[in-house]
Amino acid sequence: MQNSNRKRILVVGAGGFIGSHLAKHLREQGHYVRVADIKWDGYIEERYWDNKFTLDLRNLHNCLKAIEGMDWVFQLAANMGGIGYITSHFADVVYDNALINLNMLQAATDTRVERYFFSSSACVYPNYKQTVSDVRGLKEEDAMPADPNEPYGWEKLFSEIAVEAYHHDYGLNTRIARYHNIYGPEGTWDGGKEKAPAALCRKVARAEDGNTIEIWGDGKATRSYCYIDDCVEGTVRLMESDYTKPLNIGSDKLISVDALADMIIVISGKRIGKKHNLTAPEGVRGRNADLSLVKQVLGWEPEMSLEEGMCITYRWIEKQVKELG
Ligand code: NAD
Repeated sequence: MQNSNRKRILVVGAGGFIGSHLAKHLREQGHYVRVADIKWDGYIEERYWDNKFTLDLRNLHNCLKAIEGMDWVFQLAANMGGIGYITSHFADVVYDNALINLNMLQAATDTRVERYFFSSSACVYPNYKQTVSDVRGLKEEDAMPADPNEPYGWEKLFSEIAVEAYHHDYGLNTRIARYHNIYGPEGTWDGGKEKAPAALCRKVARAEDGNTIEIWGDGKATRSYCYIDDCVEGTVRLMESDYTKPLNIGSDKLISVDALADMIIVISGKRIGKKHNLTAPEGVRGRNADLSLVKQVLGWEPEMSLEEGMCITYRWIEKQVKELG
């Protein structure tokens, strides 16, 4: 990489799933990468970063310390998890994430960074557009009138508006991605914060041949899933673009929870049954991404098939289960 293209980049939330993959990618591209997080889950390795800070980013002073001297900032720090977690931790999620997002925006403005990226979510989209399994893909313009999913989604929508306010008032050069169910290896797979694909892989990996695994809900709810490498590619393209409005980064291939579980069972090579827990949380009935705008703006769409991506993810989680139980 030519010196003029080499940026000093901060990735916050780099101890987590998307942030660690992004930091690795940016460093492989030849950038100087600083990573920051409140904790490290063990997946981020020394070769992913040049400089590492352990900081609580709910605090403005810590945000300023993390950002000092950086050109670009990717903000991926959040208190988040799967549907079980976000439906049982309303207050902590709103408090932590609002503080992180406001303080990071203020610090980025005070230090005059060149570009600032915010990781929003498909959870900003209104519940009333996600009531059937056979759902139409969500377009960016569908976010209003607002009725987001759970306080987690309300905070993301509020923080999108905060990002746009800093862009408007202070000229902060901002980018906003709305991620839709990102999955892959080296992410949370156990402990309560894992999302559905990782939880299903873990249940199947732990099950013996002939066992039954529990599925949350009736199995007919639908989602689309985007592989981590595609997500990182879309994220970097968005940051490199001039586009400042929110953009979907996800997949438009809809699949039911039952079909996803069946796919993982086939990958495992085991004979495993499914039992539905109708009292467990399942989130909205159906959610899909419309990718027409992101294709037009970035020329990006996911390349990895769900079968192939899920195979890589299952093998990685199977290895964790064998090593850690
Ligand atoms: P993750 O939980 O793996 O990573 C988030 C990281 O933020 C964690 O390492 C955590 O320790 C860190 N963090 C939390 N509180 C902090 C604090 N006070 N100070 C510093 N760091 C703190 O999550 P992820 O899946 O990598 O998600 C990254 C971003 O993308 C988040 O903003 C998330 O809301 C968003 N997102 C993710 C998905 C997905 O499918 N994974 C979907 C939509 C949006």
